Amino acid sequence: MFSVGLTGGIASGKTTISNLFSKLGVAVIDTDIISRNLLEPGELAFDQVCAHFGASIVNADGKIDRVRLREIVFNNPAEKSWLETMLHPLIYQRSHDAIVTNAGADYVLVVVPLLFETNFQSLVDRILVVDCPAEQQIERLVKRDQIDESLAQKMLQQQLSNAERVARAHDTIDNRSADVDLESQVAALHRRYLQLSGA
Ligand code: ATP
Repeated sequence: MFSVGLTGGIASGKTTISNLFSKLGVAVIDTDIISRNLLEPGELAFDQVCAHFGASIVNADGKIDRVRLREIVFNNPAEKSWLETMLHPLIYQRSHDAIVTNAGADYVLVVVPLLFETNFQSLVDRILVVDCPAEQQIERLVKRDQIDESLAQKMLQQQLSNAERVARAHDTIDNRSADVDLESQVAALHRRYLQLSGA
């Protein structure tokens, strides 16, 4: 099963781009959704987070307060490390299972925000990186999530730089401004991946 990993910095445009692949009929696996599902009540990660952070991490609706959790981990490297060590093997396994489940597709696109940081390279055959400068990411992040710029900057500092990601990519997609033609870039990559997958 041929699989392509789509990665890029926070708010670089991964979801926007994966939606375009999806419109072309490509099977998309989003590790953010897998991660969110793992934190739902009844899942293994839910119990572990509650045991670790205490009952106050749960909202009145019985679900984990994801905004609070994000604030805690982005301001505390030890807590971030604890959460990642617990979650990443579970996410890897679920992503692998989802790739196998899509065995009938021409190829699958797996969206993995921290692909290099978490050593998820072995999950996929090819890596596609969204190329987007830090200033643009901060602008998009502040606008989309209504957070202040200092938190946005802190989030970016905890990730690889764009240049480091691009250096390790097989393919890149240019999302450096609102003027780029994402659709034709995605269409060209799609043709390439169909060839590479032997579809
Ligand atoms: P995250 O890392 O938080 O999951 P992401 O990489 O999936 O984010 P998106 O949510 O796709 O990024 O994009 C971030 C924001 O920037 C969104 O509000 C999106 O609509 C906007 N955006 C992305 N690409 C463009 C573009 N080419 N032109 C204008 N706005 C864009």
